[in-house]
Amino acid sequence: MSLPSLGWMWTRPRTIMFPCSNIHTHDKSLCNATINIYPHEQLIEGAIHSVGIHPWHTIDIDNSTIEKLSSLAFNSQVIAIGETGLDALKGAPIEKQIDIFKLHISLSEQTKKPLIIHCVKSFNELIALKKQIRPSMPWIIHGFRGKPQLARQLLDNGFYISLGEKFNTETAAIIPTNRLLFETDESTLNINTIIENINRYRDP
Ligand SMILES: [Zn+2]
Repeated sequence: MSLPSLGWMWTRPRTIMFPCSNIHTHDKSLCNATINIYPHEQLIEGAIHSVGIHPWHTIDIDNSTIEKLSSLAFNSQVIAIGETGLDALKGAPIEKQIDIFKLHISLSEQTKKPLIIHCVKSFNELIALKKQIRPSMPWIIHGFRGKPQLARQLLDNGFYISLGEKFNTETAAIIPTNRLLFETDESTLNINTIIENINRYRDP
């Protein structure tokens, strides 16, 4: 994979946080995207990454995983920490998920890199943690499909929201541009198609 040209990277940034419009994918063949990897995976030459322990993978975590995560977090190819987060339906009990999430929060603050968050049925816990910790780095809810009421609550608490292929169209209409990000995640759609779909529901 070759490096995206600097011209492309910096003339069309979505936000100051990411040099590319696609802030989250698991597709390792994509260029101009933040490719998510797990701590035991290799960095791809020339690519940019996020690294984290997915909440689904929190049941059996050994020290070597934590050590690899902690060292990769400081690598210059890694521009965000995650995806990490809380999932009430899958993974370890929520108390253990919170402990592992807090480790990611600490790495995000130490490295000054934003946090990419997977959250399922745990938004109260997530908001409570943010109020308690008062992080300096952006917290981004990835793949958000929630209703406007929840989106407003998250926005009021300073969260950023990333939308992908599937999203609530009323929610897409109310997120301020400076808090909105885009992702392909597991989708096979092109990021530009996803952005067009979302923008259809937003004021130009
Ligand atoms: Zn993902």
